[in-house]
Amino acid sequence: MAEVLVLVDQVDGEVKKVTTELLTLARRIGEPAAVWIGEGADDAKAKLAEFGAEKVYVAPAELNDYVVAPKAELLAKLAGEKSAAAILVSATAENKEVAGRTAVKLGSGVLTDVVDVTADLVAEHSIFGGTTITHAKVRAGVPVIAVRPNSIPAEPAQGAAVEEQVSVELSDAAKAAKVVERVKQEKGARPELTEAAIVVSGGRGVGSDDFSVVENLADSLGAAVGASRAAVDSGWYPNQFQVGQTGKTVSPQLYIALGISGAIQHRAGMQTSKTIVAVNKDPEAPIHEISDFSVIGDLHQVAPQLTEEINKRK
Ligand code: FAD
Repeated sequence: MAEVLVLVDQVDGEVKKVTTELLTLARRIGEPAAVWIGEGADDAKAKLAEFGAEKVYVAPAELNDYVVAPKAELLAKLAGEKSAAAILVSATAENKEVAGRTAVKLGSGVLTDVVDVTADLVAEHSIFGGTTITHAKVRAGVPVIAVRPNSIPAEPAQGAAVEEQVSVELSDAAKAAKVVERVKQEKGARPELTEAAIVVSGGRGVGSDDFSVVENLADSLGAAVGASRAAVDSGWYPNQFQVGQTGKTVSPQLYIALGISGAIQHRAGMQTSKTIVAVNKDPEAPIHEISDFSVIGDLHQVAPQLTEEINKRK
């Protein structure tokens, strides 16, 4: 069975959930082979094996000293050497660039923001806010596919995770853009948006850049904070927290929408959440069509009461 290369996403040596999703997907296509760059592979191997990685290719940490290009050179080299069936990466801004560069090197094609892939490599995209599904296939060479986080449920399956050291002779071009400093993002105690089990999002109904009503409820639940595009465009909350078609896709156990109308572009990023709770003063708001529980009321009254009640029970 041909190998399917999966570029591992990790933070401080911890494998991100999206990688477990990609490994699950890779098993459908061929034999999953994780590609790890830098230190810490030994500690991560158990997790990669748990989701079916048969191989773990470990590349030198030096590749992380440069921006994007070395990863593409590594993936293209490995794809050739191992006769890979496909390359899967997460559809983050950086990895989409890696994917594009890799496909150019391989003379193949790239598909981005994919939500599913069949065993014969037909990729599915969800467009127009999830109302239309399109299918696409790379017809030449090794397809490079960037998959949106939270699109595929991760399912464990034991793999051997046999480690192999790999390296690549970086071109001068790949070394042209060097990372001079890494600054850790201040994220406080909140979980990462796309990885969180609970997400509390605020929309235009919050009414101002004082998002504390949303943050307080999130913190009482140990949740991540999200925002609608209306809130982001108003400058009330940073862009990286936007949920939806042009933001992040989330699929938590619980999604609480505060003052969000439920436009299709917002739904596209959260409609697969297990349980959806909407707090909206308009009983006709479209969000109620997909919510499991609806509270018709002013979020500035409902959310603080809910927060207080949850904090009391801790
Ligand atoms: P509104 O639609 O204005 O809704 C506010 C809601 O709050 C209303 O339902 C109102 O009843 C309720 N409300 C007001 N005050 C209160 C209160 N005190 N208490 C309780 N409820 C209250 N949107 C996204 O979110 N994410 C995307 O990724 C995204 N991508 C887009 C891409 C494109 C190409 C386009 C065209 C649009 C996109 N949008 C996206 C925008 C989307 O169409 C909506 O405009 C946006 O989602 C609306 O945000 P909202 O629900 O916060 O605001």
